Amino acid sequence: MISNLLLRWYDKNRRALPWRLQKPDPYKTWISEMMLQQTQVETVLPYFARFMREFPTVADLAKAPEAEVLKNWSGLGYYARARNLHKAAKIVAKKGTFPSAMVEWLELPGIGAYSAGAIASIALGEKVPVVDGNVIRVLTRLFALQGDPKSKPLKEKLWRLAGELVPANRPGDFNQALMELGALVCTPKDPKCGVCPWQKECKARLAGNVALYPTPKEKTPSQKVLIMASLIQKNGAYLLARRGEKKHLQSMWEFPQMLPEALQIKAKREKSLPIVHHAIMNRRIQLTPHLYKYVSGKPKPNGCYVDYCWISLRELRNYPTSSMNHKIIKDISSKENRRPKAL
Ligand code: SF4
Repeated sequence: MISNLLLRWYDKNRRALPWRLQKPDPYKTWISEMMLQQTQVETVLPYFARFMREFPTVADLAKAPEAEVLKNWSGLGYYARARNLHKAAKIVAKKGTFPSAMVEWLELPGIGAYSAGAIASIALGEKVPVVDGNVIRVLTRLFALQGDPKSKPLKEKLWRLAGELVPANRPGDFNQALMELGALVCTPKDPKCGVCPWQKECKARLAGNVALYPTPKEKTPSQKVLIMASLIQKNGAYLLARRGEKKHLQSMWEFPQMLPEALQIKAKREKSLPIVHHAIMNRRIQLTPHLYKYVSGKPKPNGCYVDYCWISLRELRNYPTSSMNHKIIKDISSKENRRPKAL
């Protein structure tokens, strides 16, 4: 059966990852799956290590304040995932046990079919499939399936085919093998068909038209967005503003994207810093940071901002801020580090 070919390949080629254990652990599997969504393994590794240090068990995660969880997630993006993870941890800790099947995982906040399938097959050995971007690419090529993989009929077909391939004896390893094949061999560009365990079965390769699969998405035109941020300095500290809970990037801290006057602060503009480029979905953001020296006034809630604090550059790195804010912090940190030290 073709599943065994893939498992044999996986046994020889799998990457050693901290959440891939001899005896899988539901908590580690769950955290890794949440972090891996839309994110590369290499990016996740340091976050996973830090998360495990800070919250070694689900009980530790459940009792941590939300700000602490967000701080340790800060930079991974998609903060709703961290909030849902925290909510779900509270439910699991209260119950005292992890869900024991895919359907039970699906009941937790922030867990969809992919995550529930991955956790249940890897940590519980349940014979259920997973379909993510890597799996879609491999299966559309293997079975030469054309059409939009997000359309209902093709989506259902992919889940059905993935389910038929999952073996009863090693479902978790098989699902990880399928995703690993997509990440390492059946890559979007230049797939390495010559080392693929399914090269003799793959319909797209046999027809010589691998590049046709999966059917490319129709591109939505990208939108350029220009914004600014005020970096107001007072005695070596910077003003940070916190977004309200019902706003986009809820409860996150950032350099206010408003002029000091809008916050009822008097400040002297010093200079503009290099533009920060950031992409979210189809938006290409160009943010211009402006450096100000504080003169007087106390910041007042305005627009999306509900709270403020003054914070040193060193402490800033530990605050729950967006990826875009991290880029600004990185820029100003490297400038401060380059400054000649006073004798
Ligand atoms: Fe992908 Fe090539 Fe393997 Fe087909 S043979 S599954 S296209 S790597």
